[in-house]
Amino acid sequence: MTIDPSCKMKVDEKKVAIQSEYQGVAYYFCSPVCKQRFDKEPEKYLKEKK
Ligand SMILES: [Zn+2]
Repeated sequence: MTIDPSCKMKVDEKKVAIQSEYQGVAYYFCSPVCKQRFDKEPEKYLKEKK
C-alpha cells in the first residue's frame, strides 16, 4: 500500500492504474482528479508529506 499524496488516502499500487512520475519517483492516485491536482502543483503536495 502507498499513500495518494493528493488526498492522503491509502491506495493499493497493484490495483490502481492511475500513476504519475515526478522527479523519478512514481506516485499513485485514487482517482484521475487527484492525479490532476498533483500534476498541477506537485511541490505543494510533497511538502505536506513531512
Ligand atoms: Zn486521492
